[in-house]
Amino acid sequence: MSLTQKLRTEIETRGPISVADFMAAALGDPEYGYYVTKDPFGLAGDFITSPEISQIFGELLGIWSAECWHQLGSPEIDVVELGPGRGTLMKDFLRATCHVPGFHEAAKIHLVETSPLLRKAQEESLRGKHPSLSWHDVLPKTNRPMLVVANEFFDALPIRQFVKQKDGVAERMVEWNQTRAEFSFVTGEIYKNLPGEYPKTTLATMHEGAVVEQCPLAQRIMDEIAQHIATYGGAGIFIDYGYERLKDLQAQVTGDTLQAVRQHGFHSVLDAPGDADITAHVDFTTLADIAACAGARVASVQSQREFMLKMGGKLRMQQLFQHANSSAQQEHIASGFERLVSSNAMGDLFKVLAITCPAIHAPVFEEML
Ligand code: SAH
Repeated sequence: MSLTQKLRTEIETRGPISVADFMAAALGDPEYGYYVTKDPFGLAGDFITSPEISQIFGELLGIWSAECWHQLGSPEIDVVELGPGRGTLMKDFLRATCHVPGFHEAAKIHLVETSPLLRKAQEESLRGKHPSLSWHDVLPKTNRPMLVVANEFFDALPIRQFVKQKDGVAERMVEWNQTRAEFSFVTGEIYKNLPGEYPKTTLATMHEGAVVEQCPLAQRIMDEIAQHIATYGGAGIFIDYGYERLKDLQAQVTGDTLQAVRQHGFHSVLDAPGDADITAHVDFTTLADIAACAGARVASVQSQREFMLKMGGKLRMQQLFQHANSSAQQEHIASGFERLVSSNAMGDLFKVLAITCPAIHAPVFEEML
């Protein structure tokens, strides 16, 4: 049995499935899902993420979070990472904050991870790094202030896609094409208006055939985090590949952002589900709106480049550079940092959203206008 066969059987009995159901199965099917069966990171894997490129990334997030904790009055706090991958970000976060007086003692570390394989990798990389580490399937329920960190988490959550029709929108579905023996897109149920409140798009301005995306799970998780932070205090910082609706016109025109990556190259989205990573760009405008509605204070989204430079990333790189043992190591440190901040690598493509409780201000972020 393979995931292709499993989904094919499901489609033959139930009919076409939504893009969200297809993506959820491709990534998270308990037997064949991509994150369940593979360690996707690094050179030998399919893609590489910022914390795997440079230790400075996780360190700066640690310093940023500790600064929020100070502003909160140094309370007992829950530190939550969503989708921690190999645990590298949290390892760097903890190393950078271990000299902040009282922070480690006040903190409990929570890792929200659904993949058993990656949980194991996280356990290995974090063993002995903090006395209170726990793993969860969903955001833990607590009544303490919370600091939430997530890198490339929201882009892995299943999206629904809708295609503009003459009158309304049709949900994009996935069927099994018997003749070609492959999955293909088909038109599903037609809605007069986009179901749900987000994204706030005026259908009238869209041309026929344009695609609108919606990530209900990301919306739910952001709402939950923002409500928690507004009620109990805290902050959240979210880094991802994505767009802002008003600024990045291209994203509104292109619409369809679903993509699959395998061995560092593009792969067809519907081909061999479970074998490739599938992601969609994150709609930062919707996430920011949801957080604000839930009562959180939302800062202006900035690029990864701006965030890392304002946080003193360059100085940290120079420090590491000076202490490196070899010129090969120096080259690794400098090129890794460059890759994270450079405009033609990850610096501008990746964006950072920060939210806080109304009592504090997100360090190095401008207030949203
Ligand atoms: N933050 C890491 C990994 C990013 S990949 C890094 O930057 O390297 C996405 C991560 O989210 C993986 O750890 C994946 O297993 C996890 N994930 C995906 N969907 C999830 C869900 N619904 N709940 C919790 N974790 C999820």
